[in-house]
Amino acid sequence: MGYISVAIDGPSGAGKSTVARAAAARLGYVYVDTGAMYRAIGLAVCRKGISGDDTAGIVAVLPEVQLDIRYEDGAQHILLCGEDVSDAIRTPEIAKYASKVSAVPEVRQFLLETQRDMAKNSNILMDGRDIGTVILPDAPVKIFLTASAEARAQRRYLELHEKGQSITFDEVLHDIQQRDEQDMTRAVAPLKQAADAVLLDTSDISLEQSIEAVLRIIRERVEDKP
Ligand code: C5P
Repeated sequence: MGYISVAIDGPSGAGKSTVARAAAARLGYVYVDTGAMYRAIGLAVCRKGISGDDTAGIVAVLPEVQLDIRYEDGAQHILLCGEDVSDAIRTPEIAKYASKVSAVPEVRQFLLETQRDMAKNSNILMDGRDIGTVILPDAPVKIFLTASAEARAQRRYLELHEKGQSITFDEVLHDIQQRDEQDMTRAVAPLKQAADAVLLDTSDISLEQSIEAVLRIIRERVEDKP
C-alpha cells in the first residue's frame, strides 16, 4: 500500500505552516515545508549579491545550490550547502527573494523531483502554493487554507514582533499583498485552489480550531476509510 499525501496550499500568512506542522505531529505524518526550499534558494541568490529580478543570474546559481532536508524531533531543518539556514531564511527580505525566485521556471523544476520524492517515502503533509495543482495532483486530500489579507498581516506582524524585528503593520500588509499578487499572477504554477481542494478560511477561527478543521478534513477522506 502506498503512502498518504496531504497537500495544503494557500497564500502567505494564512497559518498554513503552523497548522500543517501541528496536524502532521498529531497524525504522525512527516511535515514538509516547501516554502523553506524556495527561501533557501532566495538566500543563496541574496548572498551572491544577485538581484531577484535577474533571472539569468538566478538560474546560474542553481548548480551551486545543494539543499538537504533533515528532521530533528519532528522539526524540519533546511541545509544550504551543509549549513543549517532554518533561521536565516525567516526574514522579510528573504521572503521577498523567495517570491521572486519561485517565479523562475528553472527553480520550480529544480525542486519538483525533490518534493515528489519526499511523498514516496512516508505519509506526508506538504504545504506550499502548488502542491495540489502541480506537485501532487493525485493527493487524496487537498486543502486550500486561506484568510483575509488583514487577518494574515495581523498574525505575521505579531510573529515578527515576537522575534524582535521592527516593522509596521502597514509594511507587513503591503508585503503580503505584493507577494499574493506575485504568487497568483506568475506564469508558472501560480497560487490557485485545485478544483478538488477543500477551502478552509481561518480569518475568524483560532489556531486550535484551524488544526481541528484540518484533522477533520483529513480523517473524513483517508483515516476513516477501511
Ligand atoms: O510559505 P513561505 O512564505 O515560506 O514561501 C515563501 C515564498 O515561496 C512564497 O511567497 C512563494 O512565492 C514561494 N513558494 C512557492 N511555491 C511553494 C512554496 C513557496 O512558489 N510551493
